[in-house]
Amino acid sequence: MDINELQRKDLEHIWHPCSQMKDYEDLAPIVIKKGYGVFLEDINGSTYLDGISSWWVNLFGHSNKRINKALYNQSENLEHVIFANFSSEPAIKLAEKIANITPSGLNKVFFSDNGSSANEIALKISYQYHKQSKKTKKKKYVSLKGAYHGGTIGALSVGGFDLYKDTFKPILLDSFNVDGPDCYRCKYDKSRDTCNAECFESMEKTVSKNHEEITAIILEPMLQGAAGMRIYSPNYLKKVRNLCDKYDINLIADEVAVGFGRTGKMFACEHANISPDIMTLGKGITAGYLPIALTVVTDKIYSAFYDDYTKLKGFLHSHSYSGNPLGCRVALESLNIFKDEDIINKINNKAKLLRKKVLNSLSDIPNVGEYRQIGMIGAIELVEDKENKKGFDWKKRVGYEIYKIALKKGVLLRPLGNVIYFMPPYIINEKEMDFMVTKAKESIKEYFNNN
Ligand SMILES: *Cc1c(COP(=O)(O)O)cnc(C)c1O
Repeated sequence: MDINELQRKDLEHIWHPCSQMKDYEDLAPIVIKKGYGVFLEDINGSTYLDGISSWWVNLFGHSNKRINKALYNQSENLEHVIFANFSSEPAIKLAEKIANITPSGLNKVFFSDNGSSANEIALKISYQYHKQSKKTKKKKYVSLKGAYHGGTIGALSVGGFDLYKDTFKPILLDSFNVDGPDCYRCKYDKSRDTCNAECFESMEKTVSKNHEEITAIILEPMLQGAAGMRIYSPNYLKKVRNLCDKYDINLIADEVAVGFGRTGKMFACEHANISPDIMTLGKGITAGYLPIALTVVTDKIYSAFYDDYTKLKGFLHSHSYSGNPLGCRVALESLNIFKDEDIINKINNKAKLLRKKVLNSLSDIPNVGEYRQIGMIGAIELVEDKENKKGFDWKKRVGYEIYKIALKKGVLLRPLGNVIYFMPPYIINEKEMDFMVTKAKESIKEYFNNN
């Protein structure tokens, strides 16, 4: 493989995330020099349509003029300040806006800088909340099979993914991981559009039996992202909310991936009209610019921490970059764009277009088990056998092989196993959408023609 000087140095010193570095012998790191709109351009001048918003973070395109300006202006005034006992206008305004736009009841905002930490914080807050409310037995968490809540030890403990988890099992927190919705392979033979979340059974059983020791249920509302964009019924969320109320359990909604319009509503919980006790936000919050994450809680939870210092009830957790003014300013500008440009409405119109375009090309794509879509997330699940929904052997790395073909055609897709998905920046136009879908179709066909 021919690699240039920069790539050589990259491989000499960089350990890339979620990668087997040996794979880079075949496919060297693609060094990006420039981004504009939905495109990325590498040092050789090749361009890639960013079909996955650079791991689900970008909302309004790369190097967005409006956000660039807001960022620059903020940097001329204040880049960062300690956040304990100090504050900044961007952080204050962001917290106020977040309290206003999140589902009712969520009112206090705790700052961090990545989704895993936001969830880690949510888990800690829930435990300490119950401890300080004299429910000391409550120290376990419940999560769903297939869940992804981050890579740190606590977040990994509530994950539902053997691939990420198995190695670390001996050092993880003991928690309940129950069967969640798996609508494509529904055990109850129902459809996600009309079901009554019959699969809630598993959750209900575990919780009713163990509620005294359960402090929180954590889940990704409406869609389990890393599990392969598994979309499920809002009825499931309503049932979880009721269950949490019944047994005094905190509901943690991890909206790190689905928040900020991805599913066609500002927050995915809105599909079910529920409010969690704790909501975590990250990824799209700064439109793909800077690492900011939030853990938003109710006044009820916050109050359990509020007392004289000597009672030692404070939440003693911090990050060096908590409340970073640059990130907060960018997040505010992103929220301004939502309002000024009626983005939620636009997302819903573009989602219809995406659905139409993918459905039109599906007949041409072999081995499609299911196409599922919610808002600006569309996923094609490829299967070996459509009849019994049998997937491909993971060792074939079907998704990864298709990813490599698509790169050559100028589209960045990064499949989850054998699920090829589209999650483009919201600013994608019709022509770009055509390009993305057509190249994906060609890549899939090419793979199956040759294998
Ligand atoms: C990405 C993701 C996280 C972790 O966020 P990081 O910023 O990568 O630490 C947590 N939950 C969900 C649902 C995610 O998609």
